[in-house]
Amino acid sequence: MGAHFSSHIFPACSEAELQKKFDDLIERLRDENGSDGYNGSFTTCRQGLHICRESFDTVELASAWLDEHAEKWGAVLAVKVGEFASAFPATKAAKELEQRFNDLSKELESFYPDILARAHKQASSTKKCTSCGSSIAVKHLYTHELKYIDRMDRHVFRGSDLVTCPVCHNNLLETETDKKRLASLKERHAELSKRVSEAKEARLNDPKAKAAKWVLGGWCAD
Ligand SMILES: [Zn+2]
Repeated sequence: MGAHFSSHIFPACSEAELQKKFDDLIERLRDENGSDGYNGSFTTCRQGLHICRESFDTVELASAWLDEHAEKWGAVLAVKVGEFASAFPATKAAKELEQRFNDLSKELESFYPDILARAHKQASSTKKCTSCGSSIAVKHLYTHELKYIDRMDRHVFRGSDLVTCPVCHNNLLETETDKKRLASLKERHAELSKRVSEAKEARLNDPKAKAAKWVLGGWCAD
């Protein structure tokens, strides 16, 4: 039972985005390799991701440092290579655009949970289904997790769960006003998503930004 050094490269992004990408990578590796503690992949590094302060000029220098500092059963370490600043929005307008997009994403993500929270606050403890006539205890209603996938830096809204009647699946809580608000949110979100993606693409085509990346390394048990 040994171990070998393994590395992985991601384009420059924020630390929060890097953590998300790392989680997705681990999920994919688990699907491919199973949960065997000696499968030779990052899944055997038991302490998650650790983002280090070091930065290097080349991937080779970064890899050599990671090889030396990562440990078997330890964390996967991440360091920067190249100039990160050019990979991020530079102008005030670009920053505001991304901020608005992020705010809107959060609003969209909490759309159904917010409707549910509103129902929980109401005095009535049951809700009568207009379709099948069942009386449903509000405290038993819940929303499924809604999430955004972030591949190719595009944000896709995947949540479609309504708070529905457990008997006939009729929508219980969403009003006509809610539906209109959701349609408007989705429309604005799609438009901003396109603009944010275009801006990101333009930045990433900048040679300096292209050279900027995260290099991850870990000692994988095999
Ligand atoms: Zn019903």
